[in-house]
Amino acid sequence: MSQETEHVHCLIIGSGPAGYTAAIYAARADLKPVMYTGIVPGGQLTQTTDVENFPGYPDGVMGPEMMEDIRKQAERFGTNVRFGYITSVDFTGPVHKVVVDEHKAVTADTVIIATGASAKWLGLESEQKYNGFGVSACAVCDGFFFKGQEVAIVGAGDTAAEEATYLAKLCKKVHMLVRRDEFRASKAMVHRVLNTPNIEIHYNTETKEILGNGQNVTGIRVLNNQTSEENTIPVEGFFVAIGHKPNTDIFKGWLEMDETGYLITKPDSTETNIEGVYACGDAQDKIFRQAVTAAGTGCMAALEAERYLAAKEHAVA
Ligand code: NDP
Repeated sequence: MSQETEHVHCLIIGSGPAGYTAAIYAARADLKPVMYTGIVPGGQLTQTTDVENFPGYPDGVMGPEMMEDIRKQAERFGTNVRFGYITSVDFTGPVHKVVVDEHKAVTADTVIIATGASAKWLGLESEQKYNGFGVSACAVCDGFFFKGQEVAIVGAGDTAAEEATYLAKLCKKVHMLVRRDEFRASKAMVHRVLNTPNIEIHYNTETKEILGNGQNVTGIRVLNNQTSEENTIPVEGFFVAIGHKPNTDIFKGWLEMDETGYLITKPDSTETNIEGVYACGDAQDKIFRQAVTAAGTGCMAALEAERYLAAKEHAVA
C-alpha cells in the first residue's frame, strides 16, 4: 500500500442521486467534498431509460443524462469527483480511514455513505437482453410505460405485492408469478393483492424465458414446478421484484445494519452508530428506494456532516 495518506473534510462514497445531492450541499457549504464514484458512476439510474418522476424534468429525462446533470451541478460547486472504489474502511478513531482501489489511503473527518443497492435479477439471458425494453426492476419508475397493457411481475415479498397493486391501477392485467405455493409478504399486503381483481396469481411458477421480437417484450415462458407444465403468457412488460442487495459489505463489523445489510440510521437522521459517518440513499432505505427520496437523504447527510464539523471546530476554538 502507498505510504501517502490524503486527508479530506468530507468524503462521499457513491455517485447516485444520494451521493451527488450530498456533494452539492457539502460543496456549497465549503466542505470541499471528495467523491469516489464506485464502479458504476451515476449508480442505478445510469442503467435505466426514461425517468419521468424526478421533479424538474417536465418532459422526462433519460437516466444517464439526469445523472450527468447532477454530476455537473456537484462539480460546479467544487466537488472533486474521482473514479474509484472503496475497498476497506477503518472507523476506529475520530478520523475515519478508507482505502481506495486497495492501495490509496484517505482519511476523512466525515464520511457520507451513498453506496446504493442493487436489484436482484433472475439471471436469465433474455432478461438482460430486454432490460430497459420491457424488463424492469422498478414498477414505480416504469409502470407508467405499460398503461392499459398486460404485464407480469415475479416475486412474492412485500415489494412484489406492493408493486403488483401499483401496476394493477395502471395496467389492464397483472400476472403475478410466485415460485412457491405461498407468499412471503405480510398478511395485509397479500390481502390487498388477493382483493385486486386484475391481478392473476400463478403459484408454483418459475420464469424460464422472456420472449420478445428483438425490440420489445412480447411474452414469457413459464414452468409450473409442481406439474412440470410449460406455458406462454403474452405480456408487454416484465417486472422483477425479488429483492435488493444494499452495497454495504465493506461496512460489516463497523456499522450497524439489518440482516439484509441495510445500514441503520438514527430516527429522523442519517447518523450511523459511528460519529461523523452518515448513510443516505438506498444503502439505508429498503422501503422507498426512489431517486428523489435518495436525493433527500443525501441532502440530510451533508447538512448533518456540516453541523458536526462546525460543532467540532467550535469546540476546538
Ligand atoms: P424479500 O426478500 O422479502 O422477498 C423476495 C421475494 O422474491 C420472495 O418472495 C422470494 O421467494 C422471491 N424470489 C427470490 N428469488 C427468486 C427467484 N429467483 N425467482 C422467483 N422468486 C424469487 O424482498 P422484498 O424486496 O419484497 O422486501 C425486502 C424487505 O423490505 C422486506 O423486509 C420487506 O418486508 C420490506 N419492505 C417493506 C415494505 C413496506 O413495509 N411497505 C415495502 C417493500 C419492502 P420466496 O418467498 O420463495 O423465497
